[in-house]
Amino acid sequence: MIGSLSSRTCPNCGAAHDHDQRFTEWCPTCEWNLGGEPPQDGRAARRFAHEQERAERLFAQLAQSPTGRPWTADRIAAGLLATLVHLVTLAIAVGSVLLVLQGSAFAILVGAVGLGLTVLLRPRLGRRSTDPFALTREETPRLYALADRVAGELGVRPPDLIRIEPGFRSGYARLGLRQDAELTIGLALWTALGPQERIALLGRELGHGAARSPRSGLWLRLALATLDSWSHLLLPGRGDRLMAKQFGNTDRLDEVTASFALVQLRGRSQRNALDGLANLLLGLLSLPVRLARGCLHRLLGSASRQAEYRADDFAARAGSTRAATGLLDTLFLEESAAAHLRKERTLVTHGGTRDKDIAQALWESLADYLDSVPDVERERRRRIGARLGSSVDDWHPPTHLRVRRQADRPAQPAAVPADSVDWPALHAELEDSRWRTAILVLGL
Ligand SMILES: [Zn+2]
Repeated sequence: MIGSLSSRTCPNCGAAHDHDQRFTEWCPTCEWNLGGEPPQDGRAARRFAHEQERAERLFAQLAQSPTGRPWTADRIAAGLLATLVHLVTLAIAVGSVLLVLQGSAFAILVGAVGLGLTVLLRPRLGRRSTDPFALTREETPRLYALADRVAGELGVRPPDLIRIEPGFRSGYARLGLRQDAELTIGLALWTALGPQERIALLGRELGHGAARSPRSGLWLRLALATLDSWSHLLLPGRGDRLMAKQFGNTDRLDEVTASFALVQLRGRSQRNALDGLANLLLGLLSLPVRLARGCLHRLLGSASRQAEYRADDFAARAGSTRAATGLLDTLFLEESAAAHLRKERTLVTHGGTRDKDIAQALWESLADYLDSVPDVERERRRRIGARLGSSVDDWHPPTHLRVRRQADRPAQPAAVPADSVDWPALHAELEDSRWRTAILVLGL
């Protein structure tokens, strides 16, 4: 399991470097075989260069005026666009009622479909009533107490709900008319972090409550959710991929158009041709939705990324600059963690050995594996991340710039020191979460 390092000579520059046979061999001196080539030519290359430049500009802007302006032209335009989205929803609802009242059979049918759509796609204020990842204060009092303490130190709203998901992400959302704060922790990420970094993570997410992210406002959030629902309906399957990559990125638009074209090329039999036609129609219908969604993401992108930088500052305040940087650095290991979990899943589904406590074993093996990733591989991930400007998603700035921002700021001590927390007791509280998420990861 634990790899051993051997010393190699670079075939390109002749410098010596470490190599672990579990990972790609590369040269830190001349970056031979580093991988992660950005697009070299054509539209993709120009777009890539443009995105990089935009990210650097935003980074520089934030360094000059750290607080940012609450009302920018983009934000006002986004508000107007969101209003338009809500008006369309309202128009469909009112129009459908009028059609039903009008009385002819055809009008009633169309009106009923319209009403059905309105109910199906209505903006959702709250959370799902059955959330398998939600934890109550009674189940996990220590986790809530720690989060409350972090929130208290930062002067932000304590979480109304904490959720533990399997993944390598964390999140913060405001729900319902009361704007409840919902904190989501990815257990894979939590497992990969040290105690002080976990406090930084809590500080970062709860800090969103004061970081003025445009996405946490009710009006804009509902508009985004409505557009998401519409694209799910109009682009079944493909919509998932769009959701996954959070739009904004126009690459994905091309991908969708290309797949429509493919569907039509393949349509040899009549049935396929009909499918192709239906897909084409859905594609055309979805065009305004995709356009509005892309515009809204673009308008909110900069403000959202600024808010994410500020959320990182909260991470540093809660857990120290060192821990916040450690947290960000761990984000580069997402792919390594995912690869390990996939491997564990394959082992289990192929009847590999089953430990008595399968959940404990899974998460411990992940921690051990990530611990065993050597510096040379961590550095490779960092450099690829910087080369590609990788970010958690389109709402976040490139991770390497987030690291740079923390390095540029004066170092801060931890507001909540890790040694004041009873970690074994907190760990014990999360046993149910470990089970629930392990079952999902392992596909049992
Ligand atoms: Zn070299």
